[in-house]
Amino acid sequence: MGERIDFRDGRWVVPDHPIIPFIEGDGTGPDIWRAARRVFDAAVDKAARGKRRVEWLEVLAGEKAFKQTGSWLPDATLDSIRAHRVAIKGPLTTPVGGGIRSLNVTLRQLLDLYACIRPVRYFEGVPSPMREPQRLDVVIFRENIEDVYSGVEYRAGSGEADALIGFLAERFGAKIRPGSAIGIKPMSKFGSQRLVVKAIQYALRAGRRSVTLVHKGNIMKFTEGGFREWGYEVAKERFGDKTITEDETGKGKAENGKVIMKDRITDAMFAQLVLRPDEYSVIAAPNLNGDLLSDAAAAQVGGLGLAPGGNVGDGYAVFEATHGTAPKYAGLDKVNPGSVILSGAMMFEELGWTDVAEAIVRGLGGAIRSRRVTYDLARQMAGATEVSTSQFAAGIIEHV
Ligand code: NAD
Repeated sequence: MGERIDFRDGRWVVPDHPIIPFIEGDGTGPDIWRAARRVFDAAVDKAARGKRRVEWLEVLAGEKAFKQTGSWLPDATLDSIRAHRVAIKGPLTTPVGGGIRSLNVTLRQLLDLYACIRPVRYFEGVPSPMREPQRLDVVIFRENIEDVYSGVEYRAGSGEADALIGFLAERFGAKIRPGSAIGIKPMSKFGSQRLVVKAIQYALRAGRRSVTLVHKGNIMKFTEGGFREWGYEVAKERFGDKTITEDETGKGKAENGKVIMKDRITDAMFAQLVLRPDEYSVIAAPNLNGDLLSDAAAAQVGGLGLAPGGNVGDGYAVFEATHGTAPKYAGLDKVNPGSVILSGAMMFEELGWTDVAEAIVRGLGGAIRSRRVTYDLARQMAGATEVSTSQFAAGIIEHV
């Protein structure tokens, strides 16, 4: 019998037989989920030798939910994810037309999943545009709620936009061209610091060397500049004995195994990731910077096809493939299950089942090195043999 995962005193409490809800997803979702689940079960079995096992619990969302219940996102699904705290999902079709709740947005709001986490690493053999793609190995923590993505935005010429422009001119003498569209960029100390705390906690847990705050504080002094200032402040206040700033190390202070806190201006950071990728390990960034950096970094190691993701709050987390449903290949057992498989590895790492996460990553790395890969990789790899989704999963299991 499975048991629920709990969260107490800031820590996951994970039973040996946790119940984990999954959404298989639309389009190619069922193909990749089937493959991923086999890999997860094999990795758990291998790492725990039968002592641990996941009890997977299907919950409905997307087209399958609509067919069976008339709702794209049934309340029962949200209730189940909330009750079980940790879930994993395949891609969902975004139905065209208004009035439909987006699962990601709903969950983010409901469970306050404020950190979007994207690990980016290279797997030997994957085609990449870089000469030495293996030098990049970062985990990006992107703030998920605030910033210009907070949704406070008004159309050009609307009453709201015009009223705001008038108010800012009258009260503060701010000069904004009449008729402009207006978007608001709220960034709080609370929202910034809890994100940075997550990044530092991860760096400490995973034995990573540095946390870099990425901001555009030279121009946006109070929002992005605030992010930088609050980030350093919380590192000092809460992790003073475990972190050291880059400035301090420059003055000859020994690191003594502490996490080095540094910061970079966003535009310079894009260049740094290309030119000196090995100097970065964990990155903490506001919403927009983090969004852009995540995809740019993923492209450097061979694209989004293998990029996993997780949305994590305090005591709640949802992991997911970062690609879409690839509908033209649905049911063909053809597409690459790597993204959802690596999302599962992230999930196990978050839950403290590091041995399982390592087994999954090892398996995937081995399968890619054997050059028996799905079409998307095979067409770009010299001497590769194209295999189906399920054959690729079998290859991963062989290397677990
Ligand atoms: P997509 O990611 O489905 O496809 C983009 C391209 O990548 C296509 O050529 C596709 O064949 C290929 N591709 C995607 N996943 C692949 C995989 N695992 N292996 C090999 N090739 C893969 O993006 P799209 O076509 O823009 O969107 C299709 C649908 O997915 C839309 O309904 C969209 O709203 C939805 N979508 C969902 C999510 C999500 O749930 N997180 C994310 C993006 C898009």
